[in-house]
Amino acid sequence: MSEPVPGAQDSTLQRDTGLLWHPYGPLDAGAHFSVTGAEGPYVNLVDAAGTRHRLLDGMSSWWSVVHGYRNPVMDAALTQQIGRFSHVMFGGLTHDPAVELAERLVEVTPAGLDHVFLADSGSVSVEVALKLAIQYQRARGRERGTFLALEGAYHGDTTGAMSVCDPVGGMHADFASLLAENIFLAQPPLPEAPAAEVQAWVREAENLVDTSAGKLAGVIVEPLFQGAGGMRPYHPAALQALRRLADDIDAVLIADEIATGFGRTGSAFASQVAGITPDVMCLGKALTGGYVSMAALLCSGPIAEVITRSSYRALMHGPTFMANPLACAAANASLGLLFGDETSGWQPAIERISPALEAGLAPARELPVVTGARVTGGIGVIELNRPVDIGLTTRVAAEHGTWLRPFRRHIYTMPPYISTAEMVDRMTQAMVAAAEAHSQESAS
Ligand SMILES: *Cc1c(COP(=O)(O)O)cnc(C)c1O
Repeated sequence: MSEPVPGAQDSTLQRDTGLLWHPYGPLDAGAHFSVTGAEGPYVNLVDAAGTRHRLLDGMSSWWSVVHGYRNPVMDAALTQQIGRFSHVMFGGLTHDPAVELAERLVEVTPAGLDHVFLADSGSVSVEVALKLAIQYQRARGRERGTFLALEGAYHGDTTGAMSVCDPVGGMHADFASLLAENIFLAQPPLPEAPAAEVQAWVREAENLVDTSAGKLAGVIVEPLFQGAGGMRPYHPAALQALRRLADDIDAVLIADEIATGFGRTGSAFASQVAGITPDVMCLGKALTGGYVSMAALLCSGPIAEVITRSSYRALMHGPTFMANPLACAAANASLGLLFGDETSGWQPAIERISPALEAGLAPARELPVVTGARVTGGIGVIELNRPVDIGLTTRVAAEHGTWLRPFRRHIYTMPPYISTAEMVDRMTQAMVAAAEAHSQESAS
């Protein structure tokens, strides 16, 4: 799969370095590859030496491109919408792609979530959720502006979202002048934790809620699986306890399903595994099949009604590109595939991917440098006993035909839903080889 490009060095990579910032990357570090094309689960890349690679995308482009690149159904839906209109303001106007999307979202999410706000990214939907909770409390005559969140959480990079991220991971100290002070609960116990540990965590949650009830506007969580904050599942009883505690003090329970939604953890929405319905749900990432940035917030009838009947009447937010028709068309096509038929749906995909991840990652548990290898639905994670060497992992994974982007101690994959079991095998071989390379490094 690797052949040198005539004319050598890739100029895109060279021009990038020092010019463009990448996510949490230094200006002078540049990128590993430039992308020349992509199709299905593959990305076509060129490295700094001018060598071409065709790699399986083990990341689904940060968990979003679940139907693969240049998916014919997705492409057709967007092309068709471009032929009608690509954008129009949403203030005072509406359009069919937005209405259809809202109707579909209400239909596929847990019963009781009946109203929709379309935002331009996951982080923005979290901002809107936090504002909604504060508005709800004010409409009820209460000044409550604090949120209860979990240590190890990740909810996005804007300031409101950052203020409910893990205090260390969310860099609260660095941005103290921007961030509200919220309240954090310890990470909930793992799914296999003994009952006593779960009970102790629930008691801690009860105590914290007791002492701060008067100021809590809402509770925000990633249901059952914490993603970018630590790639870690937790016990459903913790989510059930948070539902009950939020009800006790009339705080808004916000489920951030931006990563967990649309089947990724093995059920359509992670909240459903715990049998709870949140008051507000945020969706993003796979929503548009990774074609365009968009997120959605869903809200329960009773909470929307309190805001509608208040002096506010409106939910106080309205971005320029709200309900962008191209993004809506992409989301409608994506939802059609996810909940559509036997071949493209999330369920057969997870039934195929999950066992392949289990089998493929099992050998990692034998490596001395590995502290755990865990599969949750369509997520496979190897945790090392040290920070991952990103350069080493990228190189070894590429040698095994796979694109991986590890972080902290985690080498992980979230395969595209179109992946075959054989493709998942290759991804897990790449992960195990990358972990193994760390062992060799420590031995030398
Ligand atoms: C990715 C993510 C976000 C932020 O979404 P963006 O589209 O990157 O702003 C928020 N919450 C969770 C759980 C996420 O995984």
